[in-house]
Amino acid sequence: MSGKNIVVTGGSKGIGKAIVETLAAEGNRVAFSYKSGKEASIQLADRLSKEGSFVWAFQADVSDAAQVEEFISFAKAKLGDIDVLVNNAGITRDKSLFIMPKEDWDDVIATNLTGYYNMTRALIGYFMKSKKGCVVNISSVGGFTGVGGQTNYCASKAGIIGFTKALAREVAKTGVRAVCVAPGFIETDMTAKMNEKHLEEIKRTVPLGRLGSAREVADLVSFLISDKARYITGSIFTIDGGLSA
Ligand code: NAP
Repeated sequence: MSGKNIVVTGGSKGIGKAIVETLAAEGNRVAFSYKSGKEASIQLADRLSKEGSFVWAFQADVSDAAQVEEFISFAKAKLGDIDVLVNNAGITRDKSLFIMPKEDWDDVIATNLTGYYNMTRALIGYFMKSKKGCVVNISSVGGFTGVGGQTNYCASKAGIIGFTKALAREVAKTGVRAVCVAPGFIETDMTAKMNEKHLEEIKRTVPLGRLGSAREVADLVSFLISDKARYITGSIFTIDGGLSA
């Protein structure tokens, strides 16, 4: 039982939900945000609380700095202290670039990149002052391989990699770590939007022969925030069944 106080963005479903469930089951206290999945988030927090965990949900759009401040105040009130930030909330708006409206570009950058900035900016001074803390940023294999139809998404995910490396160097001397997780294809609503035929093709190209589960990503996050990972910072951890090997 590590008993850390953890903030997670986008915990209503998918990878974020699995991170909340896994970290709560390991004895950590978790405050998570959501944007539109109010019912699912309240149900998740209620269920985990009934099971004996300490979990709270809060509605906050990560792309809105004022809402992020409210979420951090809420998290501090519930958790007391904060040890870990997991930036997970992300969206896709897939289209070939030659027909991509500016709105789809802006939405993806605002959530996937500026959202990570907003959350990290709101907490990093606190971590540095506390001389501890860990930031885990969920990027994507697409951030370094590129995926056709996802220029906006891949740009945001590549940005997160650079952001994490720069941040890790900047805060290392204060005892704060920053790491990045780059999943391949994971079974969530995000991949459920892809067409069946394309998904079958992907499974054939993944050396392990299947999509990953959200729980498998959560297990990696669990390791990275633990004291076992105390000498790790600025690193990118690919979890993709061998896809980018
Ligand atoms: P998902 O099932 O679609 O869940 C996305 C989560 O992000 C939801 O909880 C959603 O909340 C939240 N969210 C979206 N926009 C938000 C905003 N503006 N403010 C706050 N929360 C917001 O996606 P997922 O597959 O779990 O993806 C999670 C992360 O992993 C993303 O960063 C994604 O890019 C990354 N990733 C996923 C895969 C994959 O194959 N699934 C692969 C590589 C990387 P609401 O439901 O409340 O809107």
